[in-house]
Amino acid sequence: MKRRVVFVIGTAHSGSTLLSLLLGSHPDCWGVGELNQLQNYYHLGTPGAIAQAAIGRSRARGLKICVVCEKGTCPLWDAAIAPDTFSLDRLSLALAELGEGGYLARGLQNLQNLLRQRFGAYTYLLDTSGKAALIDSSKSLSWVRNQLSAPEFRSGRLDWYVVYLARDGRAIVNSALRKRPELGIERASHRWQQQVAGLEKFLAELPPERYHQLSYEDLSTATPETLADLCTHLGLDFNPAMLVYWQADHHPIGGNIGAHSLILKAGRRDVWKPGLGTQTSRGQEFLQRKWKFYEDTGFAVKVDLRWQDELTAEELACFEAIAGATNAAYRYDP
Ligand SMILES: [Zn+2]
Repeated sequence: MKRRVVFVIGTAHSGSTLLSLLLGSHPDCWGVGELNQLQNYYHLGTPGAIAQAAIGRSRARGLKICVVCEKGTCPLWDAAIAPDTFSLDRLSLALAELGEGGYLARGLQNLQNLLRQRFGAYTYLLDTSGKAALIDSSKSLSWVRNQLSAPEFRSGRLDWYVVYLARDGRAIVNSALRKRPELGIERASHRWQQQVAGLEKFLAELPPERYHQLSYEDLSTATPETLADLCTHLGLDFNPAMLVYWQADHHPIGGNIGAHSLILKAGRRDVWKPGLGTQTSRGQEFLQRKWKFYEDTGFAVKVDLRWQDELTAEELACFEAIAGATNAAYRYDP
């Protein structure tokens, strides 16, 4: 099988962390998580001090790349970046999102182009991990566009595939409001509608054989069938290990609350719980509720329909008026 990268796209709260855990449990795959966060370990916006300053800050804050493993013990990330900082430097720069108002001064774009000609970041991660496929759940469209312009994809050395994970917009806005009540239903609805329009436009420009759309609701109510179908599209053999994702080793890039809570869901509470200490009190309350939800739910994949209880009739009416037409293709009413 030609080595490949699977880019997961979708809005926030669409279940991409769950999808990444499921796919990442396949023995041939590495769910790298939100690879666009690698830049956060680097603070690439400070040219001239790219490596050392950021590494120093990261060390000072005790950051580690793998959300699961202790520093220096990750079989995948440490192979990719240890022992020197050069490989992380190179990876970050090769992957960085540049462009107008980007992290780097325009001059550094040339540096990135030069680097990309000689060094393929995804090829490198596949080489060091020994895996056949990477699952990049960064989700951002600009990120995917930027990565696909790299020679390792354009030359055909690596295969690529886009998976659009869609979900009922009412669930998305409810999750957004649970996390940020001050957003308000109107803005949350507009935001979802605009994001989905952007995603649909992006997909319309892709060759049909390059992408697959699946719904969070199918994934969580008919998990084996939906995964088997997805595997066919991705050129992977279906492997039952994916259905017991909590038994697999995961090495996603750290920093994401969704990833943390799903790692918790996979029974790694000791890893996730310390994150509580770094949150504001509202953040702590949010995490506590999330934690309770996953404790109640257990390991099994179960569809999350909390929006049905949590959105008021007024909020639902507001959502329908703003985004009902767009949501017609995504509605899930069991
Ligand atoms: Zn790890």
